[in-house]
Amino acid sequence: MRIFRWVFTLAAITGISAHAQAPTPVPAPVPPESQSFKIVEVADGVYAGIGLNGVFGNGAFIVNRDNVLVVDTQERPSWARDFIADIREVTPRPVHYVVNTHFHRDHSQGNQAYVEAFGPEVEIIAQDAAREEMLTENVEVLQQSVTTELPNEIAQLEKTLADGVDPQGKLLTAADRASTEHKLALVKAYLAEIPQIRITPPTLTYDRRLTLHTPDRDICLYHFGLGHTRGDTVVYLPKEKIVITGDLLTFNFPNMKDSYPVELVSTLESIDKLDWDHAIPGHGEVEDNHEQIKLLLSYMRDMVAAVRDAVAKGLTLDQATQTIDLSRYSSIPGFAAGNPLAIARAYNEITGKTPMPPTTP
Ligand SMILES: [Zn+2]
Repeated sequence: MRIFRWVFTLAAITGISAHAQAPTPVPAPVPPESQSFKIVEVADGVYAGIGLNGVFGNGAFIVNRDNVLVVDTQERPSWARDFIADIREVTPRPVHYVVNTHFHRDHSQGNQAYVEAFGPEVEIIAQDAAREEMLTENVEVLQQSVTTELPNEIAQLEKTLADGVDPQGKLLTAADRASTEHKLALVKAYLAEIPQIRITPPTLTYDRRLTLHTPDRDICLYHFGLGHTRGDTVVYLPKEKIVITGDLLTFNFPNMKDSYPVELVSTLESIDKLDWDHAIPGHGEVEDNHEQIKLLLSYMRDMVAAVRDAVAKGLTLDQATQTIDLSRYSSIPGFAAGNPLAIARAYNEITGKTPMPPTTP
């Protein structure tokens, strides 16, 4: 794997003396601060786009002989357009396929940018349930963003800046203030962009497995069962031994709000068993070994076993949350906030307190 850098060819290098034996090496340009993605060439023709500067959510693209396949489209069409500009720096071939790994807005809301750039023939692919959720949940969430979520967040950030104190009562340092101002600008930009957002659902869905046979490689889409959401897709490239996981694997504690932890264990096992050397996660850097997925699997197995035990003893959810000790996993970034939600989702899944949709056969 290597970091792909934009190479600016200089027409002439000036200032070399007549005695110089070789041109002075020109350092590769540092990507500008405003760049939205770091593009990493993971294998020949396979690129990861790691979100930078507040762009949360990765993307990936695969350059085939005749076209390009993109995985995930970020939260904002404007970010998707930045990603398209990055793709065009690498290849003139058109994007013909877009895969959404799941319905969450930070992986699917930029879909429209691909239709605008490459025409209505762009095939947008997702698992059956992901399409359903995009057409229900995402429409609702977009509305809530305008009426409550974003105005509340803007008010909170403005208050923090005005008071010089964060919501936990901590005085802002200069760095805290700069990052709060940056966040405020990002949230305001999102609110301003929302009127232009059109939920653009998949045009092709599948149940368990779909394979694209291109002249260069097979691109396998798998749905291993319930997991991060009802309709997760894993993209697997057997020739390059690369897996693109969406949020089934992230560098930090995954967002568990729509998850099914009991079945997530077997879904993660299925991913771990695939023969891969590199994973492009939904968030964070490319992973070159199975360490993170094994850590996540270990946590999920232990957490689900502890919740089963608590349920068998007749504990309520509150009692279970207070007594289950998984602090040995606290090194996972975001553990403190994510762990109680994971326990709640597992508790509901095991007791059937929240109706769980049937697993697809
Ligand atoms: Zn995500």
